[in-house]
Amino acid sequence: MNSIDHFDGHLPPQHRLDPARRLQELSQLGRALTRYAPLDLWQLDTARLPPSLARLRRHCRDFATTHMAPQVQRLDTEHTAAGQLHPAARQLLSAAGRAGLMTGMLPAPLGSAAVSDLRYSPAFRFAIQVEELACVCSGQMLLLSAHQLGLAPVCLSGDLAAMWRHVRPMTQDFLQGIPHLFAYAITEPGAGSDAEDGHGAAHNTPRVIARRQGKGYVLQGRKCFISGGDVARKIAVFAALADEGFDSWTCFIVDGTQPGLERQRTELKMGMRASSAAELNFNDVYVPATAIVGGLRQGWALNRATLNSSRYPVAAMAVGLARRACEIAMDYSLRQRLGGKPLLSYQEVQLLLAQMIAETRSLRALIWQQAGGGMQARQSEAAMCKFLATDRAQAVCEMALDLMAEHGLSQDAGLEKLLRDVRLTRIFEGTNQINRLGLIEDLQVPLLARLHGGAALSV
Ligand SMILES: Cc1cc2nc3c(=O)[nH]c(=O)nc-3n(C[C@H](O)[C@H](O)[C@H](O)COP(=O)(O)OP(=O)(O)OC[C@H]3O[C@@H](n4cnc5c(N)ncnc54)[C@H](O)[C@@H]3O)c2cc1C
Repeated sequence: MNSIDHFDGHLPPQHRLDPARRLQELSQLGRALTRYAPLDLWQLDTARLPPSLARLRRHCRDFATTHMAPQVQRLDTEHTAAGQLHPAARQLLSAAGRAGLMTGMLPAPLGSAAVSDLRYSPAFRFAIQVEELACVCSGQMLLLSAHQLGLAPVCLSGDLAAMWRHVRPMTQDFLQGIPHLFAYAITEPGAGSDAEDGHGAAHNTPRVIARRQGKGYVLQGRKCFISGGDVARKIAVFAALADEGFDSWTCFIVDGTQPGLERQRTELKMGMRASSAAELNFNDVYVPATAIVGGLRQGWALNRATLNSSRYPVAAMAVGLARRACEIAMDYSLRQRLGGKPLLSYQEVQLLLAQMIAETRSLRALIWQQAGGGMQARQSEAAMCKFLATDRAQAVCEMALDLMAEHGLSQDAGLEKLLRDVRLTRIFEGTNQINRLGLIEDLQVPLLARLHGGAALSV
């Protein structure tokens, strides 16, 4: 029953019309100019990367298979209290630290990247890493990756003193396997999108306030939904100066043990449960002026720069999830039989799988092209990758569910977790609505110029 040599609607590989066989009959030059061979698509895409990025991709895949795959269900279902790292999460962080996955943004002595890695933007390198981790478990991936988001304002600030003060000790700890997490805190109960969109921020009032006290500042207010905020050693907190608006936002690196900082609540959220989402209360938390990153009132710019570069990895997360959905659906359609044949023999199923694979790989190609296109992440390009990849990845996961029907609903199949996880990627790092608006915001100047009689804008 299992010894079929072709799927319905296709010829067996030995057939006279099989293209791979016939191409072998071409001249040597003809064969060199054509290629038609069985492919492992992952290997094919990896081979297209420059050697150091291909190595990174293989390293991350091996890491995820060894250290994350055995813990998927455990870390998805065993919720820990705020401030407590699950023992398996602690082990994972330790292993990721030793493997250099927590410190790769900057080269030594600040981080663990090779100087030659700096030819490629951190957003590109990080997107490659994140796809591999998300494909195995996006909850564990977020536990590891929210840390890079917390570090980003320090790294992007160009503030060498801040990098030396905060990044170097973190790198030293992680490389020895000691977790030293950062978190990123912009969202407030009354400002989610408005912390990411200029028009919203201009019409809203910031509620986390920094007041001058002696040689430092005192922080007051509440942040919410901060990934890893309850277990982070350091938190990049964005606060407005007293009696000023979001344009006064300043980034402070706050120590997690600082008196007055309460980290009591984490959400039991729909997906990505291996990563906590914490509420942080700042009750007169004193921070010295040396905790400021990049200078007073630089926070809004640092936030926008951080989001521009972190939206590529979020897009890559979605590709990792879509890829896993393709793999689950492919295995299922080979295993499952209908009318005595594997499901994959039906052309309707082949059409669906072709669409899923094409969408997943097109998104990856888009992200690699855009994130690999230069050192500086541009808002319109990063936002476009983020909303398109996360919307389509959810559609790919749903196509997998269409194909598997009730078999896709059980926890063991792995698909229901993907569906829960992928939905979150459309919300964080700006909802997809905000990212769409971000694309138009970036084009506003040429669009206005056109409105006033200037040159037509090409897309
Ligand atoms: C898993 C997870 C992890 C997160 N991690 C972090 C973190 O580490 N740090 C952090 O600071 N935050 C984090 N967040 C918060 C996240 O960034 C916010 O949820 C997000 O910005 C949306 O804000 P909101 O939830 O307050 O929605 P709101 O801003 O209240 O938006 C509600 C709805 O209104 C729409 N909307 C808002 N403004 C406009 C507009 N101008 N035009 C059209 N539509 C609009 C939105 O698109 C959305 O559909 C996380 C969220 C999640 C789900």
